[in-house]
Amino acid sequence: MDHTTPAPSRPARTRHADVVVVGARCAGATTALLLARLGHDVLVLDRAQFPSDTVSTHVIARTGMVQLHRWGLLDALHATGAPPVRTVEIDTGAEVIVRGIKDRHGVDHLLAPRRIVLDAVLQEAALDAGARLFTGASVEGVVRDDGGRVVGVHGQDAEGPVRVMARHVIGADGLGSRVARSVGAPFTDVRPTSGASLYAYVTGEWSAIEYVVGDGSLAGVFPTHGGQACVWVCTSEEVARRHQRRGSRDGLLGRLLAELAPRLGERVRAGEQTTPVRGMLRMPNHVRQASGPGWALVGDAGYHRDAITGFGISDAFRDAELLATALDEALCRPGSEGAALAAYGATRDRMARPVLDLTCELATFPEPARFVELQRELAVAIDDQAGELAARPSPVGAAVA
Ligand SMILES: Cc1cc2nc3c(=O)[nH]c(=O)nc-3n(C[C@H](O)[C@H](O)[C@H](O)COP(=O)(O)OP(=O)(O)OC[C@H]3O[C@@H](n4cnc5c(N)ncnc54)[C@H](O)[C@@H]3O)c2cc1C
Repeated sequence: MDHTTPAPSRPARTRHADVVVVGARCAGATTALLLARLGHDVLVLDRAQFPSDTVSTHVIARTGMVQLHRWGLLDALHATGAPPVRTVEIDTGAEVIVRGIKDRHGVDHLLAPRRIVLDAVLQEAALDAGARLFTGASVEGVVRDDGGRVVGVHGQDAEGPVRVMARHVIGADGLGSRVARSVGAPFTDVRPTSGASLYAYVTGEWSAIEYVVGDGSLAGVFPTHGGQACVWVCTSEEVARRHQRRGSRDGLLGRLLAELAPRLGERVRAGEQTTPVRGMLRMPNHVRQASGPGWALVGDAGYHRDAITGFGISDAFRDAELLATALDEALCRPGSEGAALAAYGATRDRMARPVLDLTCELATFPEPARFVELQRELAVAIDDQAGELAARPSPVGAAVA
């Protein structure tokens, strides 16, 4: 065996699986869930301990909601107390546009469950389906055979070096993906890096998903558990850094809103901010090659976009199903692997592109009329994608509600 990164000095404990998935959140847990429901032996590794939060706001667009519905997971999410949201309001400065969520593709509301809750529901479902999950296990690199095919991963857990050998290695390990770097997955589409997305949780009367279009900014509200909302601001890195320098981190959301969305800022001041401000600056927009011999990428590991469209969870759910279907084909019909995984990449790229294009333009913060037009186009693109997914045969037949 030839290791892509230096082999550990102590002998590693070795486990085996059909598929090893690195990363156990939106992309990894759902890929594992679907593969396990299809009858495959799946082992998931994550360096985190769960339940744990991650840096992300968390509205689930209709595309993601359709997937949760098709996979039979919506009841479990409702049971967590995530409030169904049926109205979207867009404040352009000149007017407030109010839209109801239409009943389409089996979905008549949206949800914004906190990630500590969502990821736990997805992991529970994957475990119920028979996947194995090992937490506190940090993957350091891939293992290749003499022909260069990826045949496993190696890393460390609490007991020392560990190795998992598998027919397929899946990188669902997020933006900084160790798997993607270890296999040398090339970038196939790189767009300019965009701005900042910062958020905190605030108590109050929050019932609608809200967007506030500002000059060089977009702010908003995602109602979530416990009568709180995730209140967020997307703006340029320069504006975010200027406000960061002006005072405490806890006061950052208030300072940003006071300048960029003052009416929302007043409502936030009337409530209580219950968490520190979190977020990301300089968000990359890029796509990596989706697969190669023995490996594939899913979720942010393979495709990352600015958070302004709130679509990464939906991207992960779509690609989890596309990948699980391709891997099922490859595992069940030897000889079909190349074509099945090439189709995964091509379909991911085709389906992702319209929202990626709109995301990159929205992240330039166009003037309000153009912003509203782009939001309309985004709604159509999301609906088209939701419709295409809803029309697909279920990858797991009768097991899905
Ligand atoms: C500020 C912000 C706001 C956002 N808002 C929204 C939104 O409102 N709606 C939306 O749909 N999307 C949103 N997104 C995007 C969304 O968060 C991501 O697209 C989504 O989390 C991707 O899921 P993932 O499973 O691919 O990766 P991640 O959620 O990043 O999970 C990767 C997992 O891999 C594990 N891991 C990483 N490296 C290793 C390793 N070497 N060994 C073992 N484990 C490893 C990590 O511990 C982690 O658990 C937002 C993102 C940001 C940054």
